[in-house]
Amino acid sequence: MPNMSLKKNPSREQDPNVRNKNFLEVSQGYDEALARDEAERCLNCKNPKCMEGCPVNVHIPEFISKIKEGNYQEAYSIIKGTSSLPAICGRVCPQEKQCESKCVRGIKGEPVGIGRLERFVADYAFDHPTEVEAPKSNGKRVAIVGSGPSGLTCAGDLAKKGYEVTIFEALHTPGGVLVYGIPEFRLPKDLVRAEIKTIEKLGVKIVTNAVIGRSITVHELMEEEGFDAVFIGSGAGLPNFQNIPGEGLNGVYSANEFLTRINLMKAYKFPETDTPIRVGNAVAVVGGGNVAMDAARCAKRLGAENVYIIYRRGEEEMPARIEEVHHAKEEGIIFKMLTNPTKVIGDENGYVKGIECVEMELGEPDASGRRRPTPKAGSEFTIDVSTVVIAIGNKPNPLIKKTTEGLKTKPFGGIEIDEETGATSIPGVYAGGDAVTGAATVILAMGAGKKAAKSIDEYLQNK
Ligand SMILES: Cc1cc2nc3c(=O)[nH]c(=O)nc-3n(C[C@H](O)[C@H](O)[C@H](O)COP(=O)(O)OP(=O)(O)OC[C@H]3O[C@@H](n4cnc5c(N)ncnc54)[C@H](O)[C@@H]3O)c2cc1C
Repeated sequence: MPNMSLKKNPSREQDPNVRNKNFLEVSQGYDEALARDEAERCLNCKNPKCMEGCPVNVHIPEFISKIKEGNYQEAYSIIKGTSSLPAICGRVCPQEKQCESKCVRGIKGEPVGIGRLERFVADYAFDHPTEVEAPKSNGKRVAIVGSGPSGLTCAGDLAKKGYEVTIFEALHTPGGVLVYGIPEFRLPKDLVRAEIKTIEKLGVKIVTNAVIGRSITVHELMEEEGFDAVFIGSGAGLPNFQNIPGEGLNGVYSANEFLTRINLMKAYKFPETDTPIRVGNAVAVVGGGNVAMDAARCAKRLGAENVYIIYRRGEEEMPARIEEVHHAKEEGIIFKMLTNPTKVIGDENGYVKGIECVEMELGEPDASGRRRPTPKAGSEFTIDVSTVVIAIGNKPNPLIKKTTEGLKTKPFGGIEIDEETGATSIPGVYAGGDAVTGAATVILAMGAGKKAAKSIDEYLQNK
């Protein structure tokens, strides 16, 4: 029977006052009954708009109809046909801006919980694993730089076509932002490892601790190591700063360092682990995206009593996923909207003791289409904090650009590509994800990896 409820089934969640003290996953997703009930809300539209909203074109109504039948393994195969990382997308994709924003059920009520259903199916498949056989090699070799969602997707798609793929990853663990940025309580790392395993089972090799541009260059990969093509998915790991006085004080972190210490190096288990983190009782996180929400929620879990999100625009303009903002508020994060830091204040020993801010007001829309914030004269005030985390965006790291002769880049550092194919200015070298766009989303990075895999296949077939 179709379920005509205007509301989507809520996900099961840990209580906010319990979860803000632990790093266990916040959302427990749907159980079977909730998933079947939610699947019945899908009208199986003849012309499914939801698919248009998905950068990797998951066959959404098809996989949902398999849930209705109770055939979860088949639902998983349908998703896996176009997406390499369903357990991850089901958890962190901004569905409200993508597939769910196009769902016709969203016109009069809430859209179908597509992300939650995707997660349910992926989790079912992990609990009921099936054997995957590596395809027969076609004798051609492709090197991938970076093991984030763009690199993993490109690798998986090429391996399925018989290419011998090797991923070179600078860090000691593969996964990119999925392992070093997004916290355990939003994306458990054993799941990321399991998703990566499914790609390795296709025959993809992963070489860690290999910094392309230092250990070996992109040109050397092709000219000396015999790779027929290269995909660059090296992300955007270079943090932006505000360039205000006091940013060099002890206790000011880039969100990258703060989150890497906590997620990759497991500082929340220190001294059981080797890496410490200094948080204190009050923390200011500057920024309004997912990165800022993650940093604030980590700080709260590490014991800070007052954690402030300081954002220069209003809540409507915040780029973070709606669910993350909602969860952060439930967990007691304090939102200071229309507020911009002007100075970090230090004590006599060079440690942070406060942050000076100014109130902002919104003017006319700027180039991004969002209303431009301007400071209100004389509205400066100070908040006492012991830690400041700067989460105002990242740029691509310049190493690849500096060490790859002939690679054209844009003024902000992103690699220039042909939008249709992902081809760079060097024949045989493709790029995608945050390395091209600057900091964006998992699903856009995956879409770029997919597009490049298709183009690399065409290029190598014609070579
Ligand atoms: C804290 C945080 C939270 C986020 N939350 C969300 C979210 O909820 N939803 C969402 O959709 N998006 C989110 N994002 C954005 C999303 O994670 C990124 O857009 C996505 O990971 C980009 O994928 P990528 O493959 O381009 O790069 P990355 O994931 O950055 O991976 C790039 C990899 O390349 C490696 N590398 C870099 N240089 C080299 C080199 N020279 N040689 C070898 N390897 C190299 C890096 O170590 C890294 O492992 C978040 C980002 C952060 C930082």
